[in-house]
Amino acid sequence: MSDRHAFTDLALAAYCPRKLYYRRRDDAPPPDRDERHELAFRYPELRDPATDLGGEPIAVAPGAYRRALGRSKARVGAPTFAALADPARRDAFLEGRRARGIAHKVIEAPLAPSIVVAGAPPDRGVYRTQAVRAVAAAKALAWERETRVERAYVEYATRGVVQEVELTARRTGQYRRALRTVASVDGPPARTRQRSKCETCEYAGECGVRTRSLRSLL
Ligand code: SF4
Repeated sequence: MSDRHAFTDLALAAYCPRKLYYRRRDDAPPPDRDERHELAFRYPELRDPATDLGGEPIAVAPGAYRRALGRSKARVGAPTFAALADPARRDAFLEGRRARGIAHKVIEAPLAPSIVVAGAPPDRGVYRTQAVRAVAAAKALAWERETRVERAYVEYATRGVVQEVELTARRTGQYRRALRTVASVDGPPARTRQRSKCETCEYAGECGVRTRSLRSLL
C-alpha cells in the first residue's frame, strides 16, 4: 500500500475509524455523484432572479438559496466566489507527500482547493471530517506547487453555502491525527462514542450499535 493516504480515507478516519475499516475491507467505491454536484459550477446563473430554481436539485426554497449564495459571496469575497464558480481546474488529482486524491476545484487566486459536498452544513463553519479532507487537499496542492496554501473551501452545493477552511494549527492538527489513525487501522477499531453518527451509517447492523431506527423496530 502507498504511503500516501486517500483524502476520503482521512475524512472517514476523522468521522469514525471503524467505518473506515469496514469500507476498506469491502473495498467500497465512493458514492456516485449526481446533478447536485454541478450546482457548484453554476452560481452566477443560480443567483440570477431570471433563473427558475423550481426544477433544480436544491435543498431549500429558492429565495433562501439565493440569500445563502449572497452570504457566501460576501463571506469569501466576490473575486474568490467568481473563481469558485469557474475554477482553473476541475477534478484535479493532487498528490502530496502524505496524501492524494481529487480536489473538485482548484482556484489560482488565492491558490486553494475546494471540496463540493451534497449534504447540509453545520450551524457554523464546516464539519471536522470535511475540514480534514479539505486540509489534505490543500497540503497536497502545496506540495505539488512547492508553495504555501493557506486555505481551502468546502461547498455545500445544495444549500448555496461556501465556507473557507483556514489551515490553522487546530485544523492541521486534526489532519495529522487523521493521518495517524489511517496508518494504524488494521483490525476493527473501537466504535465511535458519538452515537449520533451511527444513525446514518450503513454498517450499524453489522457494527452492533443500536441506532434509533433499529430501536424503533424492536
Ligand atoms: S455504526 Fe457507528 S461505530 Fe459503527 S462504523 Fe458506523 S459510525 Fe462507526
